[in-house]
Amino acid sequence: MSRIVYVNGEYLPEAEAKISVFDRGFLMADGVYEVTSVLDGKLVDFDGHAKRLDRSLTELDMANPVTMDDLLAIHRELILKNDLKEGGIYLQITRGAPADRDFAFPDPAETPSSIVLFTQEKNLANAPAAQTGISVISIDDLRWARRDIKTVQLLYPSMGKMMAKKAGADDAWMVEDGLVTEGTSNNAYIVKGGKIITRQLSNDILHGITRAAVLRLAKEAQMEVEERGFTIEEAKESDEAFVTSATTFVQPVVRIDEAEVGEGKPGRIALRLREIYIDEARKKAI
Ligand code: PLP
Repeated sequence: MSRIVYVNGEYLPEAEAKISVFDRGFLMADGVYEVTSVLDGKLVDFDGHAKRLDRSLTELDMANPVTMDDLLAIHRELILKNDLKEGGIYLQITRGAPADRDFAFPDPAETPSSIVLFTQEKNLANAPAAQTGISVISIDDLRWARRDIKTVQLLYPSMGKMMAKKAGADDAWMVEDGLVTEGTSNNAYIVKGGKIITRQLSNDILHGITRAAVLRLAKEAQMEVEERGFTIEEAKESDEAFVTSATTFVQPVVRIDEAEVGEGKPGRIALRLREIYIDEARKKAI
């Protein structure tokens, strides 16, 4: 299947889309991204993703080449052009392509940011992993210290995913100073005695858009939430565990390293949160 993608103002067949070899995204991982999920051909929590994008750009002193209204229009146009019903839209903005490679940032007046968007078709609401649950291994968190900025520096998370694969698991939870930070591409949670526990927001983790929605929905459903760090040992002894992200929603975790979590099957609270989340996402999608 050949997609129509968006590159710097143009909609093009994917094979014709081009970015310069001098692009700082390519040379320096000097770029930020967002992934917004699509359900029933509509965008889930576009506003949340647009706001976080704005924050990532501001933190890195990088210019946004489009207005937020244009960004919404581009997302919608890509959904239409690719007839996307379910999946996600990947968006990347980099500090553009200066005349030569240089550590110093180029002058934004001379080097506009680059922007790329493309669609990804994926079964989200009925993903098989939500029924079976996933297994995770624990690994050291060796990423940089500004994980609150959604940058395209994804080498260590990719290595973590490969370590998990080699160990016969699905994903990795990263641990720093004895506490779980997050999954390679998701926020991590445990449930003990009915209480949902997840690490508090700081520069140590990405401020998940799904995390914000799920914690709000949990509180609205009178579930108890505690935002604090937890150890891998505590996670192994918890009743349930799960992860959240824009494209997996709420996904149960049934194994951590060699230990089964709870009864080794998706937990009641995780499945309930998944149901409530998808229900609301469908209703509020634009
Ligand atoms: N944490 C990390 C490291 C991620 O890469 C992601 C998503 O890509 C998340 C958390 C979840 O964020 P969101 O719910 O906004 O997709």
